[in-house]
Amino acid sequence: MKDAALALQRYINDISDKPKFRSRKNSKISFYVNYERLKHTVNSFRGEKLGFVKTATALPKIPKGKKYVNPRISFDGKHLYLSVSYEVEPTKVELTGESLGIDLGVKELAVVSNHDASRTKVYKNINKSYKVRRLEKKLERASRKLEANTKSYAKNCRPILKRPLRECRNIQKQHKAIKLLYKKLTDIRNNYLHQTTTEIVKIKLSQIVMEDLNVKGMIKNKHLAESIAKQKLYEFKRQIQYKAEMYGIKFVEVDRFYASSKTCSLCGHIKKDLKLSERTYICPICGAKLDRDLNAAINLANYKKA
Ligand SMILES: [Zn+2]
Repeated sequence: MKDAALALQRYINDISDKPKFRSRKNSKISFYVNYERLKHTVNSFRGEKLGFVKTATALPKIPKGKKYVNPRISFDGKHLYLSVSYEVEPTKVELTGESLGIDLGVKELAVVSNHDASRTKVYKNINKSYKVRRLEKKLERASRKLEANTKSYAKNCRPILKRPLRECRNIQKQHKAIKLLYKKLTDIRNNYLHQTTTEIVKIKLSQIVMEDLNVKGMIKNKHLAESIAKQKLYEFKRQIQYKAEMYGIKFVEVDRFYASSKTCSLCGHIKKDLKLSERTYICPICGAKLDRDLNAAINLANYKKA
């Protein structure tokens, strides 16, 4: 309530934008914990007004005299999490001096390559895996069931139950089941993203080049837009960016006018009439024949700021 009044005051004083309505029903439950009182013990922590709370793993150790910053407790529908930040010394790593290009896509999550394609790796689209597809089917069925239940209730002229719909046990149960399925899916997707980005950064090349995401995000095809949203390409970029910074790797974003997929990675010829359906790049000048995404990744690795 206090926050809402403050936001309104800021809007009136022309400091910030119009406050947005945020429903409590759909937002993630989380709250701030007083960091000065946060003490960690062996397998638990002590928080203000919370007392001792047991944790699944011990809290990370920090040097004496330092404190955890910005501790938050959040709930994702199944587990409670305590997240803290603290300062760490940056890790010194030896970099190889090479440049790495990443081509993001719809068919595959990412094709990674350096300038002579000796470090090529294709990261598959997790949403095409059996595990995710099965869960999505399950989710579809669960939502259909909920819809059927609520619809029949509304249509019934003589309701069997006199209480409101949200108090019905079966509806509540169904809502919870759907929430858990969503959680499972997001967990799988996030985990895969983290594994992928960490693996890419751990190759330890000196530079990572990526395409401006607007190029791919702007596609006005409904189905493509949905699969792009599921791939979380923006989250991918964010993770690559901060993980690269951790290792001291330079992160370069190429603007949309750089023709990464139309250029031949061998001779530099630009094929202007390249269609989206052409999965293999065949150069009309030098006759090079290679996968479209790999060609783009190599071009990105070769990118030098003009
Ligand atoms: Zn060529």
